[in-house]
Amino acid sequence: MRVTILGSAAGGGFPQWNCACPNCSRVRAGAPHLKARSQAQVVVCVDAGECYLLNASPDLRSQILSTPLLAPSDSPRHTPIAGIFLTSADVDSVAGLLSLREFQPLHIYATPSVRRIVLEENRMFRVLERANPPVSWHDVPWNAWFSLGGEASGRASSLRCRAVPLGNVYPDYVSETLRRALPPEEAVIGLAFAQGNKQIFYAPALPGRSNEWKDWAGSSDVCLLDGTFWNDEELISTGVGTKTAREIGHLQLSGAGGLLQEFGSANRGRKILIHINNTNPILDEQSPEHREVRDAGWEIAYDGMEIDL
Ligand SMILES: [Zn+2]
Repeated sequence: MRVTILGSAAGGGFPQWNCACPNCSRVRAGAPHLKARSQAQVVVCVDAGECYLLNASPDLRSQILSTPLLAPSDSPRHTPIAGIFLTSADVDSVAGLLSLREFQPLHIYATPSVRRIVLEENRMFRVLERANPPVSWHDVPWNAWFSLGGEASGRASSLRCRAVPLGNVYPDYVSETLRRALPPEEAVIGLAFAQGNKQIFYAPALPGRSNEWKDWAGSSDVCLLDGTFWNDEELISTGVGTKTAREIGHLQLSGAGGLLQEFGSANRGRKILIHINNTNPILDEQSPEHREVRDAGWEIAYDGMEIDL
């Protein structure tokens, strides 16, 4: 399988349109040691005709257009996108679904709670039902591998998937009434994909309230993990927000209890940070924080990065 990083930044992208933090100002000015990044988007391709999107970023349309392997072939209406997996109902994860509204039958995999938030709290997404046949939603089962492709193409895929519950932070736009009705464990999931004896694990948000993800990340050939914030108080100290990283569902990278310490040398494969917020100092390739991450054996995802397994 081939994993392609179409976008590697957190919500807002890098630079963010209304942000003049030191990182955004420098990348806007063309500093050579910072790379612009679009909002986090990953695609897993089994072969040229069978690709799965991991989330649907707000930048999805331009990300698809700049990726030849996602171009349509043969008939007037066609896409190699066999399915879309949603790891949460965050705007960063679901907004791109509206860029897929051109009457294309699609398969979307999510927890029942994320499906309810998308369809009940945001009726605009029902635009996807105009396709013939309409978009099909599939519940991702817990604690079991499931095979892909059967629904989309009529033939079983060689790719298997497994959902791992990660925590209980629902987006703040969800109404209090619905939030109370939803089981906490369906808010944020990680995804393991396996083909043969190769495995990847994707978790762009780690709320840090369970440890099951460590086993999945540690046993994978490649893990793509939450690189959103360097410090828990990064949004406050840079003057762009009032909440801590933990309060909005992200485990910080540095310090006691941070990702670098929590997930050290126990893994066997490549460990890559993704979903990097524009305030994060690791985006500056000359910063001590960038060096610290690299010295600890981590890679930092960039737009266009390709991983073959
Ligand atoms: Zn910024």
